[in-house]
Amino acid sequence: MEKIIVASFQCESNSKAKLHPKKEDFEYFKGEDIFKKLVVKDIFEKAGYTVIPSIYAVALPSATVTEDIYFYYEKQIMQTVKENPDAVGVYIFFHGSMEVDNIGSGELYLLKEIRKVVSSDCIIAMTMDAHANITAELGNYANITCGFKTVPHTDQKESQVRAANALVYALKNGIKPYLYVQYVPFLLKNDTLLTGEEPLKSLIFETLEYEKQDDVFSANLFLGHCWIDAVNTCASTVVCATTKEKAEKIAKKLANELWSTRKDYKFKIEAESPEECVRRAVAGKENRIFITDSGDNTTAGAEGDTTGILELLIAANPKKKTCVAGITDYDTVNGLWDKKDGESVYLSKFKVNATIKSHGEILGWTKEIIGKSLTLSIGNVDAVFTEYRSAFIEKGNFDKANVDLLGYRIVVVKLGYLFTELKPYADRELFALSDGASCVELKRLNLKKIMRPMYPLDEFEWKA
Ligand SMILES: [Zn+2]
Repeated sequence: MEKIIVASFQCESNSKAKLHPKKEDFEYFKGEDIFKKLVVKDIFEKAGYTVIPSIYAVALPSATVTEDIYFYYEKQIMQTVKENPDAVGVYIFFHGSMEVDNIGSGELYLLKEIRKVVSSDCIIAMTMDAHANITAELGNYANITCGFKTVPHTDQKESQVRAANALVYALKNGIKPYLYVQYVPFLLKNDTLLTGEEPLKSLIFETLEYEKQDDVFSANLFLGHCWIDAVNTCASTVVCATTKEKAEKIAKKLANELWSTRKDYKFKIEAESPEECVRRAVAGKENRIFITDSGDNTTAGAEGDTTGILELLIAANPKKKTCVAGITDYDTVNGLWDKKDGESVYLSKFKVNATIKSHGEILGWTKEIIGKSLTLSIGNVDAVFTEYRSAFIEKGNFDKANVDLLGYRIVVVKLGYLFTELKPYADRELFALSDGASCVELKRLNLKKIMRPMYPLDEFEWKA
């Protein structure tokens, strides 16, 4: 039977983040176990193909990937490919924004290597995150990509299924799809680009309409990922069709439409400076107000170690019980760990007296315990310090840290938008436009390698 190779290799990079991903940061499966995570096996088997599983290696957003870590996984995928050079298809689930030191796009490099081994007739299909930074060269090596159609992302499974079905369709009909990349020269605040709202809602609908055509394998909007300083950091439209002409025509039309909406994206919630967010939270009448420290968003690769908002709150000395959850600070946690709850300590960094409130634990992305937390009270402000980077995305994180989320009226977390799991606890949400590795203000990111002109750094006319 003809073979299809399946793999996944993902890490969204952040050039300003401090920590490069380590081996233990990757959720890793090999062989048949990768299908605990990928849903494409049945589709290929039902279509009569032998499925050759390689690896699944997926890390949380981090700093750029170092070469040793990249090749540790790349070699494993290439070994599968070299053992099966006669494969008629390759399916890979990428993020699409992996930046490797000294190499550039990790996706592009791997695709080039795979193409050297498989035949030119082999169909390579991919699933990618809607925030992938696509390089135009991708079209020289791959045939199909299906990007997520939802932001926030809820269609990871459907996007795998679409790519797998497209791959099978191409193979069964003897078609070699052409993948056309059209860049769109903007980098916008990702948190304002939501597919449930206009204008993206209609544009996504349009891509779905194109996909109903027999000669169109996929039509995608990629919104770009502004936290990598690289030449391919940009929005794009990517269309995969039977002919180059068809793919190019649709990609350009979508690109012009996407470009025309560039000034329409606005925050739907209050997005203000950290100072203003703290002022509003302290004065607000709502039962519980959340502030998200978006510049230090640990789910976007930032370290979670900035204390600007904590310091503003200490200075504001609020009458309301306040919690700042998840400040990465190994030294504070371990330096004070042997103190008992209720003991007083002096925090020289903040020049204040504090009381040890509680000892607790922190959870990793897959909800395993990854370290300790120590909560200190400074007046009404409780600061949860964590041994390692962590994300407080749901009530369970507060429970593990031994702090009572329901007892607070102001809560600060290191996120962009609040995760859905926290929304029921938020009577009001303030998005703090803070500095840091995940700062959403393009001008303050000071990117040097990106293509210019680039909106909104530059004002210019453009047409695909
Ligand atoms: Zn994304």
